[in-house]
Amino acid sequence: MFVKNIKYNLPDKEGFFVESGGAFVPENFKKVLKRLDDEFEKAKNDEKFLNEVYNLLKDYSGRPTPLYFAKNLTNHYGKGKIYLKREDLNHTGAHKINNVIGQTLLAKRMGAKKIIAETGAGQHGVASATAATLLGMECDVFMGEKDIIRQHLNVERMKLLGAKVHSVDTGTKTLSDACDAAIDYWLRHSDEVFYVLGSAVGPHPYPKMVRFFQSIIGNEIKHQCLEKENKLPDYILACIGGGSNAIGAFYAFLDNPEVKLIGLEAAGEGVETGKTAASLAKGKKMILHGKRQYVLCDEKGNVKESYSISAGLDYPGCGPEHCYLHDMGLATYEPVTDNEAVQAFARLSRLEGIIPAIESAHAVAYLEKLMPKTKPEDIVVVNLSGRGDKDTERLLQLLV
Ligand SMILES: *Cc1c(COP(=O)(O)O)cnc(C)c1O
Repeated sequence: MFVKNIKYNLPDKEGFFVESGGAFVPENFKKVLKRLDDEFEKAKNDEKFLNEVYNLLKDYSGRPTPLYFAKNLTNHYGKGKIYLKREDLNHTGAHKINNVIGQTLLAKRMGAKKIIAETGAGQHGVASATAATLLGMECDVFMGEKDIIRQHLNVERMKLLGAKVHSVDTGTKTLSDACDAAIDYWLRHSDEVFYVLGSAVGPHPYPKMVRFFQSIIGNEIKHQCLEKENKLPDYILACIGGGSNAIGAFYAFLDNPEVKLIGLEAAGEGVETGKTAASLAKGKKMILHGKRQYVLCDEKGNVKESYSISAGLDYPGCGPEHCYLHDMGLATYEPVTDNEAVQAFARLSRLEGIIPAIESAHAVAYLEKLMPKTKPEDIVVVNLSGRGDKDTERLLQLLV
């Protein structure tokens, strides 16, 4: 199910992954986060609660997701063995539901009547609206004005599911401002509202909590790979936005240094162009949205707007645990450009009949660089975080 009790034991009590993470928030907010941490720790050790979460992931979302041997893709490279972890087959089309069902059940357990969520592309908003409906709770979603226009279909889905969508018209009118607006609303209504955060970001205990609910991905990979290949994977690839699908896929392997973990950041038009979202490659360590992490910024230390073709990876920061794994060399992080991702989107569709989300296509794209270096017996797992229906219309125009 979820990963518990591994030797790797970060974050510490204050939420630090050594230099990264923490909870940089006003005093009154600290109490709210402390209660959340206490309740989460209790819930995580309560078998009844965990079974409740797992039963919904199983019967409602369709877990375990398959670990699929991609024969055509493997033949295309003629080396190694490529498996796809099919998170795209989850209900609502991505891994986000794993975390959302966990957090919404926790919200209910804590007595909240309403959940709130921030969203960029709308995927986390749709997953949150879905879980709220399922569990009989109200749901308010905060979304930048610009994203509301760009991601019209997801806005309609959220409304159909009964959620209220708040348009955020401050700053760049995108995800970063939607996060600020959601946090602000939460601070004003913290006794009746639970903030369901969509990625492995935010102040402690969020990165730890999101990791826990997403750790089911890597735990399944471990068991499925042992069953099919009688050994652990040699490589695990995952795209990095805030970092939740990647830490979910990596966490079960942090005690197994022989398994190489590779996170793929969105380089946008290239890390040297300024039009990029590669915060590990180009960022500086500073505080954003309640935790210390690498953030894209200008010489004066002002947060810079990020850019990526993929809305789900278009964030100027990166989850604190990935900053730590990066600093320690426990995982490696590579940039993938828009163009490389678009090519991989087409390649996987044509070779395997699987249309990946443009986010996930960043991980698929890295096979071009990795496969020529692999040994014939190497097993490579790509975490296919989501499906690409949402991207097809836009990307087809780029491919003709
Ligand atoms: C949101 C999203 C991502 C990026 O978020 P992470 O927290 O980094 O996983 C990646 N893939 C898909 C399909 C998404 O919807």
